[in-house]
Amino acid sequence: MLVAHDENQQLIILQRQFSRDELQVLKKQHQFFCPQCNEPLQLKIGQIRIPHFAHLQHSECDNLFSERESEAHLLGKQQLYEWFERLELAPILEPYLPQIQQRPDLLITYQKRLFAIEFQCSPLPLELFTARTKGYLDAEITPIWIVQNSFERLKDNGVQKIKINYTMSQYLLHNQGQCYLMTYDVKQEMFFYMSNLTHLKKTQYLGQVHRLPLKQQQFPFLIPSKISRQKFEQFFLQMLQFRDDYMHPRLLLSKRGVNDRFLFALYELRLTVNQLPIFIGIPVRNANAFDEFCVEWQVQLFYFLKCHELTPQTMNANAIPYFFEWASFAMTMERKKEVTYYLSLLKRLTIQSATDHLEKKHLIEVLYDELVAIG
Ligand SMILES: [Zn+2]
Repeated sequence: MLVAHDENQQLIILQRQFSRDELQVLKKQHQFFCPQCNEPLQLKIGQIRIPHFAHLQHSECDNLFSERESEAHLLGKQQLYEWFERLELAPILEPYLPQIQQRPDLLITYQKRLFAIEFQCSPLPLELFTARTKGYLDAEITPIWIVQNSFERLKDNGVQKIKINYTMSQYLLHNQGQCYLMTYDVKQEMFFYMSNLTHLKKTQYLGQVHRLPLKQQQFPFLIPSKISRQKFEQFFLQMLQFRDDYMHPRLLLSKRGVNDRFLFALYELRLTVNQLPIFIGIPVRNANAFDEFCVEWQVQLFYFLKCHELTPQTMNANAIPYFFEWASFAMTMERKKEVTYYLSLLKRLTIQSATDHLEKKHLIEVLYDELVAIG
């Protein structure tokens, strides 16, 4: 904790400007109490750790508020607090909100609206993340989750594969059809943006990375710009490359042989890996609804169409749940949306069957309009 009351109910905020000597004086002159439970606190001024307050005894509010905060968490809170102060957004550090029994790292006011800032340095289970988010929204507070950065090794700007694990993927943000992730690095005082994210499979995404120093950040936080039409071509080629890299071992290493539904469907569609049409294996809607790479269900969809003498033009939306059952894919709302969206894309491309030919240039243009330029 960085905040305490003294014996006169004065708020003490441990900011970076205090030297350790100044803090030693403060410690000698005052007693400190937890603003939440009023229990006495100890001011810890070690040589290594960032000075902070800690309960003398195990307290009820330990459950709400981690006593063993990481250095990054303490430092990040200080940096963000100071930055919000400079922006004159009236930040309150570690406020306890009794109505929802939550304690965000920071609370700020912007255009008469309240925002809770959570700087997350340890994995937060999805249930807790969802519950806390709901708590804030119920109290008419907009939560903003900032995750500790773990992407410092990625290079700037180029289109590249980015690994975002499942715990991290709960922090993905969506704006006008774009999916992105914002993280913060305390050492460099730098925001990292993983933008224009397209889900490939499992924890793999394709996207761009760029850095933004805290000093250049704005509030509301910057929303990364969308990929340009020109760069999208590069993006598309990387998707195709990923697809081909996926396909070869998929075929070679299949243990189920002829019982492999995917290989069977490919065979029935008279498709080979080298002749897979460019419109199969296209990630749509930037969603991570399916864990597997999209080529798996898209091949099944074409086989389904063939077996039922349908085309993307004639397949009724009501048949989609039946497709899931037929292909043994569990259906979720998000997955259903993805299949619906893919079918409408095929309609727009006037695709009739898996053996149709499509100009790459045309596909890239339509994909850019559908996936990027929307919103
Ligand atoms: Zn307490």
